[in-house]
Amino acid sequence: MNQDVDVAVVGAGFSGLYLLHRLRQAGLSAIALETGDDVGGTWYWNRYPGARCDVPTTDYTFSFDPALEDAWTWSEKYATQPEILAYLRFVADRYDLRRSIRFATTVTTAAWDDTAQRWQLGTNNGTPVSCRFYVMASGCLSAPKPPEIEGAKDFAGPTYLTSRWPHEGVDFTGKRVAVIGTGSSGIQAIPLIAQQAAHLTVFQRTPNFSIPALNGPAPAATVALLERDRAAYREKARWTPVGMPRQRPAEYSWQLSEAERRERFERGWMSGELGGLSTAWADAVSDVDGNALLSEMIRGKIRDTVTDPATAEALCPQDHPFGSKRPCLDTGYYDTYNRPNVKLVDLRREPIATITKSGIRTAKANYDVDAIVFATGFDAMTGAVLAVHPMTGRGGMKLADAWADGPKTYLGLTVAGFPNLFLVTGPGSPSVLANMAVAIEQHVDWIVDRITGMRDAGHTTIEATETAQAGWSRHVADCTGLTLHRLANTWYTGANMRGKARGVMPYTGGLGAYRGICDEVVRRDMLGFRLGDASGNTTCNDGEVVRLQPDVRLLLAEMAKLNLPAMESLGADAARAFTIQARASRPAGRPVGEITDGTLPGAGGPLRYRLYRPATPGPHGVVVYFHAGGWVLGSHDSDDPLCRDLCRRSDMLVISVDYRHAPEHRFPAAAEDGYAAVRWVAQHAAQIGGRPGPLVVAGYSAGGNVAAVTCQLVRDRGGAEIAGQLLLCPVTDHDFTRPSYSENAQGYHLTKAMMHWFWDLYCSPADRSDPRASPLRGELTGLPPALVVTCEFDPLRDEGIAYAEALAAAGVEVSQLRARGHIHTSLAMVDVIITGVAAREQMARAIRRFAERRIR
Ligand code: NAP
Repeated sequence: MNQDVDVAVVGAGFSGLYLLHRLRQAGLSAIALETGDDVGGTWYWNRYPGARCDVPTTDYTFSFDPALEDAWTWSEKYATQPEILAYLRFVADRYDLRRSIRFATTVTTAAWDDTAQRWQLGTNNGTPVSCRFYVMASGCLSAPKPPEIEGAKDFAGPTYLTSRWPHEGVDFTGKRVAVIGTGSSGIQAIPLIAQQAAHLTVFQRTPNFSIPALNGPAPAATVALLERDRAAYREKARWTPVGMPRQRPAEYSWQLSEAERRERFERGWMSGELGGLSTAWADAVSDVDGNALLSEMIRGKIRDTVTDPATAEALCPQDHPFGSKRPCLDTGYYDTYNRPNVKLVDLRREPIATITKSGIRTAKANYDVDAIVFATGFDAMTGAVLAVHPMTGRGGMKLADAWADGPKTYLGLTVAGFPNLFLVTGPGSPSVLANMAVAIEQHVDWIVDRITGMRDAGHTTIEATETAQAGWSRHVADCTGLTLHRLANTWYTGANMRGKARGVMPYTGGLGAYRGICDEVVRRDMLGFRLGDASGNTTCNDGEVVRLQPDVRLLLAEMAKLNLPAMESLGADAARAFTIQARASRPAGRPVGEITDGTLPGAGGPLRYRLYRPATPGPHGVVVYFHAGGWVLGSHDSDDPLCRDLCRRSDMLVISVDYRHAPEHRFPAAAEDGYAAVRWVAQHAAQIGGRPGPLVVAGYSAGGNVAAVTCQLVRDRGGAEIAGQLLLCPVTDHDFTRPSYSENAQGYHLTKAMMHWFWDLYCSPADRSDPRASPLRGELTGLPPALVVTCEFDPLRDEGIAYAEALAAAGVEVSQLRARGHIHTSLAMVDVIITGVAAREQMARAIRRFAERRIR
């Protein structure tokens, strides 16, 4: 006998409860299977002293029913575990959900039956369950990690796991207690255990960043916003990166004085919110340098608080940037180490050798204790899904095998090969990096809407395709590159578990962006899903939902909102004024040693230049750089952030030289100016503080055209020695029929229409095959080594690749960098398009290598 339902759900925490409610509202039969004997999930299990949520109650609450919000009042800013558990019980009762929950029940097997198109679940309590859809609402942090410490079973006294705390509580009065672990759980429990116990020894392997929670009433400003318009506040939260409307700073650390940074830091520290510090400046958690300033200020607070210098130093995190590992909010954590009954044992200096009958032995000492608390964390994100039971999908494929090298999902919601399986806040979704209440509501709504949509359309199965899943994995990894999470060994990456595959598991692209992507999948005809019906017919609109780099995608979306006029419709003067105005709003670029402006003689009169000198002692190798702008726009300082970046990363002197622009000065003015400028710089390298000898020539877009042409002219006419050429998205030919011109004709900033306009202003059709306009058509032998950089979504992509291939065919040493997911302008958008860092780093390495090879 089976219990037949439309949907079976594992778990009765936040996710399971809301799922049951929505499924029932949609007229679907459902059951939740819950190991605990009550609702609550995380908040049922984690009853250790001090357990609280560190997301404010104004935000960590269901928002699907305004009447529920009216009916419940939170007592303080950060709710305790008992209060949150009481809330979830209240929710279960209010919506009469308990009758659909089988408590004290663990799923022991789950197998997809392809013939019946149903999941078959075995349980340890009651009849098996047959369901059309199977939803894992089992939480991200619910499978405790084994202590993994030798001798743990030998200890004679009681041991406690923070995540499996006795319901009746524990009295430590008069006891010597050990706590192992200083993550969020340990940091919350330690101050309270210290107050009660006779003595507390904390065994710390990795110190964590923690900031004061300053708990109290809910923040007045947020309460006022909610009172003014709760619906608007909630809707705004849904589209924010972390599920909470908060101010995001525009200024980067290097744009602020030390005093301004200190002022912002102190404000963040006293905000009593994790976001208070991560938003101190724009690069606080996205850039190593911006983060280092912040991390050091936090360490200063720890040193100011903890009186024993050695203990303070041991508590200072040094091995990971702030935010890369989940930071904590605490109440009196660092002060606790000033108590006479508390000792910190730094396991980096004296690792645990074994747990003994009477306590813990480290490499240096024996610590006898009466009780041990393991605050050692979880097998996060995948643990609950894999450990609950063996799960087999289509063709008997085991989920454990499918995920052997790390979890693979589409949208964090579904898994290829596992039809009709949904994960709530699964790996590859924002989940733990967002306010879970908001993340959960989004997932549940999406899942239930899909199930009802399928029912209405007569579909019985849904399954992610391999293409969509692989594309999503790439996108998740691209997003990770925008953050510092990859730099820390944490449960986010699986590093806390022996033998677990490594990789940042949560989606770091932000909840709002993610919500937009999930909606887009639906709008694009269920992109990346195969839908089937009872007769075995399937439909599939296969593809990858995000192919652009995440920050490029966001930038294009923002630009689309501005409804900017087409550049080619403006006329040259207005287009120039427009680009100057647009540039004023971008980050200024980071400081270099020195910036000076000057002029040098061009082919038709003086040309302005801007010289970027590194902060290191010279003389430096010299790069002559030509700016972008379709031979029409731009100037010696228009690519300022890129030139600063090249200068800083390559430690070379970059001289950005202007050239005459069309339509006032048509072909071959730009080309001849390029040649004249390089000759002049070669002759005056020492005078401008550069190292005499071969130069590197670089250029971007039309400037890449000028650079490529200049290298050909220097080869033919002499006048300079060139060590190498860096061509970033260069114009190399006047042929508009290459596929990249049609694939990327519009929508990616530089358009086909703009390129037509530029060419028309610069060069008459009769001259366009001249190699000084289309270097691809010139003689290519004997040219200096080159790095040719092309961007996937650029009309100029294919002519750049064609140039690189033609150079190689002509025997020139050439390497290519094909920037996946980038557009024509993105690599030059320093500090805006962070995913361009790796490419910019590679470009800098290349020009440095060109220069150095010629010195030897
Ligand atoms: P955690 O952050 O993974 O911390 C586990 C701690 O135990 C770490 O300090 C870890 O050291 C240490 N540890 C693990 N195995 C060890 C061993 N064999 N020997 C010595 N030390 C060992 O786990 P958690 O504190 O339970 O927190 C997990 C997550 O739950 C948090 O990051 C947070 O997202 C969530 N949480 C939230 C709240 C809240 O809302 N306030 C409260 C609690 C938990 P290493 O770092 O060296 O591995």
